[in-house]
Amino acid sequence: MEELVRLAKARGFVFPSAEIYGGFRSTYDYGPLGVLMERNVKDAWWREMVQLRQEVVGLDAAILSSPKIWEASGHLQNFTDPLVDCRTCKQRWRADQLPTDDDGQLVCPNCGGSDFTEARPFNLMFKTFVGPVEDEGAVAYLRPETAQGHFVNFANVLQTEHLRPPFGTAQIGKSFRNEITPGNFVFRTREFEQMELEYFVPPDEAPQWFDYWCNERLEWYARLGIPRDMIRLRPHEKEELSHYSVATADIEFAFPWGWGELEGIANRTDYDLKAHAAASGQTLEYFDPATGERYVPYVIEPAAGVARTMMAFLIAAYTVDEVAGEERTVLRLHPRIAPYQVAVLPLSKKDTLLPLSQEVLKLLQPVAMCDYDITRAIGRRYRRQDEIGTPLCVTIDFDSLDDKAVTIRDRDSTAQERVPIDRLVEAVTSRLAW
Ligand code: ATP
Repeated sequence: MEELVRLAKARGFVFPSAEIYGGFRSTYDYGPLGVLMERNVKDAWWREMVQLRQEVVGLDAAILSSPKIWEASGHLQNFTDPLVDCRTCKQRWRADQLPTDDDGQLVCPNCGGSDFTEARPFNLMFKTFVGPVEDEGAVAYLRPETAQGHFVNFANVLQTEHLRPPFGTAQIGKSFRNEITPGNFVFRTREFEQMELEYFVPPDEAPQWFDYWCNERLEWYARLGIPRDMIRLRPHEKEELSHYSVATADIEFAFPWGWGELEGIANRTDYDLKAHAAASGQTLEYFDPATGERYVPYVIEPAAGVARTMMAFLIAAYTVDEVAGEERTVLRLHPRIAPYQVAVLPLSKKDTLLPLSQEVLKLLQPVAMCDYDITRAIGRRYRRQDEIGTPLCVTIDFDSLDDKAVTIRDRDSTAQERVPIDRLVEAVTSRLAW
């Protein structure tokens, strides 16, 4: 984990936020490689959940939201974690995440003490004021999940899209939770991005769609390169269920500190639509003109976090192997997820090679995210690309000027192949398998 945090910072994936001021309370900024990878994670999700389906449409709802939404959804009352104070060292903790000793007593991770205050519910929503006056009428909340934006737009979407259950709305965006104990790098932060699908289904089909989505989502991680033995599905015990759920299963990943949640899949029933219908006085149901049927759909929700997913991909991809008797660090990232798909590398920075190298770069930029590097010896540049997970390097050498061909080097096997420049785009795209 330490090595990964070091690499993330040194290579420009993730920086501690406000570092020049000593950092700011478990917040992070994404650097040049981090934004590329984050975007790829979101694109891969969007492709799977929206582009490759006909029954799912996109949404982008507001982050600043009306208190009425959170009152109706039950979040004002129920979106809490149990807060305890350690009486010995005064640190605050989430009671359900504290370790216990052999007698089942909670133990303070800071001082080892076991003397805690009674647990009290702490609401995780960030409250703010809209406009210049800070009074109760100006209260707004930063959304703690994107889901409610789907529910309050249910009627709008139905009116514009002619959809029939099962259908879904998909959204990627920031959510905010005033977590009591953020930590484990970007695993738990107070500001984070979620990728959520709300899948509206006929009520009697909900259990089968719940199973369907558990399976689909597990397969997605596996297809993008997470080894099977590093992910698992963990059904929630009854006591663990959120106030809106009758069944939840977490997709968990084997993080260096143990199994941790990547994504939650919940059967939210008709809880949210009914709650908003009751509070707003609007009709939030599906009417089938063919059968005359009218009902409030159940909702199956796969909800994933961008940063946790990115972290899991990085951890699963991180490998140290040996090439020509030398140790190398390599991120074996799936080409869809890697920050760059191709690095264009002129063998020398002598002027003679640069015009052709620029031509090659311009050829490849429309089909792949390309890095261009003319610094240092070629071996060092290959190592850098291995370390940031670039699947292919394209090297332009002095022979290229005569034979109009370049060398493609594969990150994983380090095999090299000479390819004519006029077939390069095809050679690169076929190797990237998309
Ligand atoms: P946890 O039990 O870890 O607090 P949760 O069950 O409350 O998470 P959900 O409400 O199911 O989380 O949110 C869906 C996803 O959003 C999570 O699986 C996770 O990937 C992401 N997520 C939730 N809270 C955070 C956070 N504080 N920081 C980063 N990602 C988060």
